[in-house]
Amino acid sequence: MPIVKCPYCGADVEYASGEVVLTCPYCGTSFAIGGEEIERHLMGRVNFSINEIYSIFKSWALRKPETPNDLPLKARIKNYQLNFYPYWVYRVNVTFTYEGYARNILVKGRENETFVISIPANKKMYGTPLQNYEFSLKGKVFFSSHYARKTGGTILNADISEKDAWANAWKTILNRAKAKIKMRGVTGLTLEIQNYNIKDKSFVHIPIYQVTYTYNGGEYPFLADASDARIMYAEIPVGTGFRMLALGGAVASLVAGIIISIIGIQADLPVFAITSFIGFLAIAAYSAYKGLLRKLVSKKFYV
Ligand SMILES: [Zn+2]
Repeated sequence: MPIVKCPYCGADVEYASGEVVLTCPYCGTSFAIGGEEIERHLMGRVNFSINEIYSIFKSWALRKPETPNDLPLKARIKNYQLNFYPYWVYRVNVTFTYEGYARNILVKGRENETFVISIPANKKMYGTPLQNYEFSLKGKVFFSSHYARKTGGTILNADISEKDAWANAWKTILNRAKAKIKMRGVTGLTLEIQNYNIKDKSFVHIPIYQVTYTYNGGEYPFLADASDARIMYAEIPVGTGFRMLALGGAVASLVAGIIISIIGIQADLPVFAITSFIGFLAIAAYSAYKGLLRKLVSKKFYV
């Protein structure tokens, strides 16, 4: 493992190759290996214990019709981890102009907007539910490694530099600005940023529980924000009751489709017969799909 001296306390700090922003395990200061200053290092507090998170998760899951009723009784936590994940967060005020068409009429405009953009600072977070996680800086406090250590959490370093994160954030700003105008039904859009002002940039560690629980011999994960108990990602077993109901519905729709089309053919209405058969077949296929799923994957939820 390569070693670098902490610029604040002088201790030798080990790091993994590729990491560019480290948190010194001795004095708790975060610093970039390249020497750039970390202006604002913030963190989310751990406001929920693992037991509180687990009971919030169970009552949240029970609100879904797919969830078996005995989940709270039979599910057990197999293991969990609390990690402080690093993000670069920018609050940017942007003025942009745009041109496009709404119902074939040329429209132009100038807008001003403040965006809060969070960019994951560790490559391991990409391609996971952590990648597009959006959170507000409200309630975030200045980073304390003493506090983080007390919670038993692991602090992850950054292997994406602030410079690379900003290039990423810039693309996100353009996409958000475009999305805002497209929502108004504008097509053929061209957009240009006239000026921007970075209000603040922060390095933020967000505490996230990664939980694996068991139910009837199966294993299922979920992720939850330890600050506000948001369930970021969850896999839930689909109950037998729900599956039987869905499969029964599929069979009933198929039978109804056949009967209606026989009636249609006998009444010499072939178009009616075919279209209603296709309609019932689609409902049957959807119900069968729901009935055959053995687990539900849920990605978005706000407590
Ligand atoms: Zn140090």
